[in-house]
Amino acid sequence: MRHNGGTGGSGEPGPRGSRRLTGTRPPDGPVHDSVYHVPVEPTPDHAVAGSRSFDGRPGLPDGFGRALRDLRISVTDRCNFRCPYCMPAEVFGRDFAFLPRAQVLTFEEISRLAGIFTSLGVRKLRITGGEPLARRDLPVLVGYLAALRNPDGEAVDLTLTTNGSALRALAGSLAVAGLQRVTVSLDSLDDAVAGAMNGVDFPVARVLDGIAAARSAGLAPLKVNTVVRRGMNEASILPLARWARDEGLVLRFIEYMDVGHSNGWRLDDVVPASEILAILDAELPLEPIEPGYRGEVAGRYRYRDGSGEVGVIASVTRPFCGDCTRARLSADGTLYTCLFAVAGSDLKTPLRDGASDAELTALIGAVWSQRVDRYSELRSAATERLPKVEMFALGG
Ligand code: SAM
Repeated sequence: MRHNGGTGGSGEPGPRGSRRLTGTRPPDGPVHDSVYHVPVEPTPDHAVAGSRSFDGRPGLPDGFGRALRDLRISVTDRCNFRCPYCMPAEVFGRDFAFLPRAQVLTFEEISRLAGIFTSLGVRKLRITGGEPLARRDLPVLVGYLAALRNPDGEAVDLTLTTNGSALRALAGSLAVAGLQRVTVSLDSLDDAVAGAMNGVDFPVARVLDGIAAARSAGLAPLKVNTVVRRGMNEASILPLARWARDEGLVLRFIEYMDVGHSNGWRLDDVVPASEILAILDAELPLEPIEPGYRGEVAGRYRYRDGSGEVGVIASVTRPFCGDCTRARLSADGTLYTCLFAVAGSDLKTPLRDGASDAELTALIGAVWSQRVDRYSELRSAATERLPKVEMFALGG
């Protein structure tokens, strides 16, 4: 297998004071070497390695016993938004060279690989990007993926993450093709704030139209993702929470993450989950609830008055590496085993060179079983500067 440089994943960042992770043997000892002194809590089960996956079901365990359960599929590296925290306009301008069409996997290639991942234990497929709705004829791919069955004969959980800009036009055909649910990204209900955060002044009303269309099409549950960035949208937290609760939407606040290497991320720009929860709790009292399943990334809370729930995805201050069951397939057919990866494993070349399903299964299985990524637990000033692959490229 050809690796796109490096050793695959974020396994060897070599930050000051951190361990080099080589081979499949999990390290022991403290997991936070961060020079930031972020109050990071380690996630459990690093010591669980072996032939069974950590959730006890048949599956493919990695070097820490984490089963391969989720695949995020990036169908394009292009996006019509220029969110400064993801694809800042000054870096990704008119002249930026996105992937040439020939390098992008076809729907048939994506479906074949997704079928192989499914046979290895993947139960959830999330279509993403870039902006996935920017990919022409996306419902055709949805139809292919909806037809996949896992080894138990069950359909996969099929969902999609979108900025919502084209959802009004496409929600119906996506649902008919077999999409089950959708997550829409929206950082504020205030046009000025949302416009600054989407980088193109895209109006909130059009995203809300998309959410309404998704609801009418029967895509459920409907989720909303909100990235919170210091000095940008803290004042949007409560209005969004009230709105989502009233609309029956599942809202997740996401800590601003050091994904990629172009967004100029600084720890000072992160609003920690604890602060987001305190803002919510002061007006809408909360209590924690159990995760829906092992490996769920959002910490979930219910409103004490029984009016709904809200979540926080705290990759920076509460890393969930120990429960991470996600692989990512980029639009150009590279397999990444960590959102913060500096390198991945090329699947497109063997795919296009005529590899059999058995050969591709072996390749993917080998990558996953050697995986020892746990970037968020190792985050430090040194890891921040790594040439990490951009989120829009590897699939957010
Ligand atoms: N274009 C689609 C969208 O807007 O949802 C899918 C791709 S986008 C990369 C997926 C998610 O990643 C979005 O919810 C976005 O807000 C989030 N995201 C991007 N950069 C981020 C960052 N630096 N920190 C936290 N979340 C980020």
